[in-house]
Parts: sequence; structure tokens; C-alpha cells
Amino acid sequence: MLQLNNLSKAYVSGDYALKDVSFTIEKGQVVALIGPSGAGKSTLIRCINRLVEPTSGSVNLNGENITELPSRNLREIRRQMGMIFQDYALVDRLSVMENILSGRLGYVGFWRSLLRKFGPEAEAAAFKLLEQVGLPGYEDKRADALSGGQRQRVGIARALIQNPNLLLVDEPTASLDPKTARQVMRLIRDLCQERNLAAIINIHDVALAQQFVERVIGLKAGQVAYDGPPDGLTPEVLTEIYGEEDWHDTIRAVDDDESDDEASEAVA
Ligand code: ADP
Repeated sequence: MLQLNNLSKAYVSGDYALKDVSFTIEKGQVVALIGPSGAGKSTLIRCINRLVEPTSGSVNLNGENITELPSRNLREIRRQMGMIFQDYALVDRLSVMENILSGRLGYVGFWRSLLRKFGPEAEAAAFKLLEQVGLPGYEDKRADALSGGQRQRVGIARALIQNPNLLLVDEPTASLDPKTARQVMRLIRDLCQERNLAAIINIHDVALAQQFVERVIGLKAGQVAYDGPPDGLTPEVLTEIYGEEDWHDTIRAVDDDESDDEASEAVA
């Protein structure tokens, strides 16, 4: 599905932000990308959606080498990738519905998008997504009237309405309290499972990553230092990635008990 081959990125300073990164992600697989600040996580995500041009290597999405595509085809590529952001990137003064529908901008022409004519099919899809992310009845609320968790749910719906083949998720829980963070991670995981959708989640919270994903890729100084199941993140491996620290309290500090937040339903 997604294949990275010896992907490298050197900035003008000559420092490598990524060096020979190779891995494959299958359809439906949710992967957490961890590593200390400066390890290259954002650069990796940006090379995949071509906000950053890699220095060498390639990115293949469904068999297509997207690193070689001319920039006029970028819209086409990005339509296949749903983005979810740490700061939600909503337009505050627009309604929840308008924010979600803006995820369809890659589909409609410029004038239609300016007139915000997305069509009944897109609107029906938006209503369905509102239900799925736990915000039924929120369509007319302004984005700035929502809590952080609710805003992220709108961000998730906006990413999904474009029917992506891949989700690129940048620190989705960094601005949320621990409980809401877990709800949001669980929602992303469940929606990916339902849709057989692959995701790469850049996340700094190791315990949260361990709890909700099946595979973790650890970056250190631009290189893959770990690629495997969450259980393989032993204190030794974490020390290798992050440096010396007592990791015993971090690992699996949170269990996957849904009971405490299942009841609070969706609207946190
Ligand atoms: P992370 O997301 O893991 O914190 P980044 O991908 O942001 O890491 O950064 C990786 C490395 O690349 C860092 O050393 C950073 O200083 C460097 N870097 C990132 N963006 C630029 C840029 N635009 N110009 C030069 N160096 C950059």
C-alpha cells in the first residue's frame, strides 16, 4: 500500500533529517511513529504528502511513485491522503458542517468550492461521519464553540470525507487531556479498522501509542531504530531511541480499559 524506499532528506545545512528510511505499510495497518524531538517524524510525514521534497529515495502509494510525480499532480496525490493535525486546523468562524465539507475541496472545482456547493451526496456523507465521530446534531455549531476533543473529532471527519487511502496524523492528542486523548486515539483506531484504512500517527506519548496501535516505528536521528509490535518497546529499546531514563513506569502505564470513557460518549 505505502512503501518507502531509502528515503533521505538533507536540509541545506547538510544535516540529514532522514537517512535511508525504508518500510512498508499494508492496507488497514495503523502505525505509530515515535522518537525524540528532532528525530525526523514531521519530515517523514511531510515527505509522504510532498510538503517536503526528499533528497533521495522514493515513496510509493498503491504502486505509484509519488516522489516522481510532477507538482501539478499534487492535488491528486493529496486527495488520497487525509491529514489530521495537532491544532485541528479548523476554520473557527465556520460551522462544523462547513469544516467537514472543506475536506471535499480536492474534489470540486474552484468556483463550486467558493460557493460552497458540495452536493447532496457529500452532505449525506458528512452527516454520517458526524454520527460516527460521536457528534450527531452538531452540524450548525461554530467550530470555535467546541471543546478540544470535539474539534479533533471534526478534524477526523474532515479527513475521512475525502475517502483517503492513507491517514497522516500529526500529534493528534498533544493538546488534549489524557482521557480525551485516549478517546481520540480509540476513535482513530476504530475508524481505520472499519474502513480498512492505513494510518501513520506521529505521537510523542509512548504509552498511548502502545495502547492503541499494532506496530510502532521508532526514529532516532533520522533513522529507523525500531520497527515492531508495541510489546517489543522494552526499556532497553526506549533507551536506545530516547536516551537513558527509567522507562518502567511509562511502558503500558495505561491499560486498555474502555469502561471509564465509553459512557462519556464521544463529546468530550
Ligand atoms: P521531529 O518531527 O521528530 O521533531 P523534524 O522532522 O521536525 O523532527 O526535524 C528533523 C531534523 O531536521 C531536525 O534536526 C530539524 O532541526 C531539521 N529540520 C527540520 N526542518 C528543517 C528546515 N526547514 N530546515 C533545516 N532543518 C530542518
